[in-house]
Amino acid sequence: MKVLVVGGGGREHALVWKIAQSPRVKKIFCAPGNAGINRLATCVPIGAAEIDKLLAFARDEKIDLTIVGPEDPLSNGIVDQFEAAGLRIFGASRKAARIESSKSFAKAVMEKYGIPTAKGRTFTRFAQAQAYVKKMGAPLVVKADGLAAGKGVIVCSTEKMALDALKQIMIDREFGDAGDQVVVEECLVGEEASFLAFTDGKTVLPLPSSQDHKPVFNDDKGLNTGGMGAYSPAPVVDQYLHQRIMNEVMIPMVNGMAAEGCPYKGVLYAGLMIDRDTIKVLEFNGRFGDPEAQPLLVRMQNDIIPVVEAIIDERLDACRLDIDPRASVCVVMAAGGYPGKYKKGLEIKGIDAANRMRDVVVFHAGTRLSGKKILSHGGRVLGVTALGDTVELAIKKAYKAVAKIKWTRVHYRTDIGKKALVRMQA
Ligand code: ATP
Repeated sequence: MKVLVVGGGGREHALVWKIAQSPRVKKIFCAPGNAGINRLATCVPIGAAEIDKLLAFARDEKIDLTIVGPEDPLSNGIVDQFEAAGLRIFGASRKAARIESSKSFAKAVMEKYGIPTAKGRTFTRFAQAQAYVKKMGAPLVVKADGLAAGKGVIVCSTEKMALDALKQIMIDREFGDAGDQVVVEECLVGEEASFLAFTDGKTVLPLPSSQDHKPVFNDDKGLNTGGMGAYSPAPVVDQYLHQRIMNEVMIPMVNGMAAEGCPYKGVLYAGLMIDRDTIKVLEFNGRFGDPEAQPLLVRMQNDIIPVVEAIIDERLDACRLDIDPRASVCVVMAAGGYPGKYKKGLEIKGIDAANRMRDVVVFHAGTRLSGKKILSHGGRVLGVTALGDTVELAIKKAYKAVAKIKWTRVHYRTDIGKKALVRMQA
């Protein structure tokens, strides 16, 4: 079969890498792809947001299956448009993707179906939001309702910060229409974890737990990024909590969405705050996380294509997942200066040497080819991913691979996975 993957980051490289292992797949296209994806798929110069062009391409090329990586095309209805044209596509419909594209919608569904989350309220008027902030007092979290590339969430330690955040979102419109509404909620404490599952709208098939590292510097210091690394499994989610997350979060959410008339099909991602035995949902995403996709997909042992097809055909109950019992770690190598200003076009060396290591895969994010050279082309550049018998061994191997890769002003955290080690030693 011919498969089209939409997107061009580390998550999409991991998807293409996984899809390329399927004996059912004869040809892979990726739009727009990157220098790493280019080795496994034909990259097509169409942006992930250009739905009409993607649709025309899928029709012309007679694509049998399209798999969507990022959130923007999903929330703009790529799945609805492809389905209306009779094409098979994997991902959440526009209505279902609102669990990510509207935080107030997600909050309302969680409240209605008793899914644990931070206490909060949604506002469309600045004055009312201001009054609520003054009534509640700090700390508080102020969130632009819509998609803001991970930047629309402001954790405020003082009342002034929260009032400034409201102004930034609602008056200065820093995030555009995403700030039409704001969610103001209590500030939760604990350890974060990501919990992802495949679902066809009825059956929920969980992937192992994982943990992202959002801040740019070690010890969770500095600005938030798209994610500086991830590992799986996350020991903060033990077997007991895993079952509770399924029963209290994932299954009720999938059932709730079906009851609301927008059945959820695809990958359901819950960002959780865990404080001992208390689980609260910070956010839902309507797709694989990036970088979580990298450590998760290297642990998934079965062919992904039958799972994706079973979701589209709503027969996921017949599937099971085979998961590598080993741990996996992904260290993101980024451009110096990211998430602020950074340079592009710097030559990267050592990727092949790292890729030759056993149980190591270097996933590309922001890279492009120039002749035979690989150049940096984004903030997050590579996701160096390794498997190991324990998290500790996977960390060691990932950093050994990282040490082989060089370019000017490269930046990466040196503490990816440390929380797992600390927890396991406790
Ligand atoms: P992304 O697109 O990167 O997933 P987002 O913009 O959807 O991010 P969230 O994941 O909802 O934003 O929040 C970003 C971060 O803000 C969380 O990972 C968490 O660290 C923090 N955060 C969000 N809500 C709360 C809360 N209620 N209490 C404490 N911290 C929070």
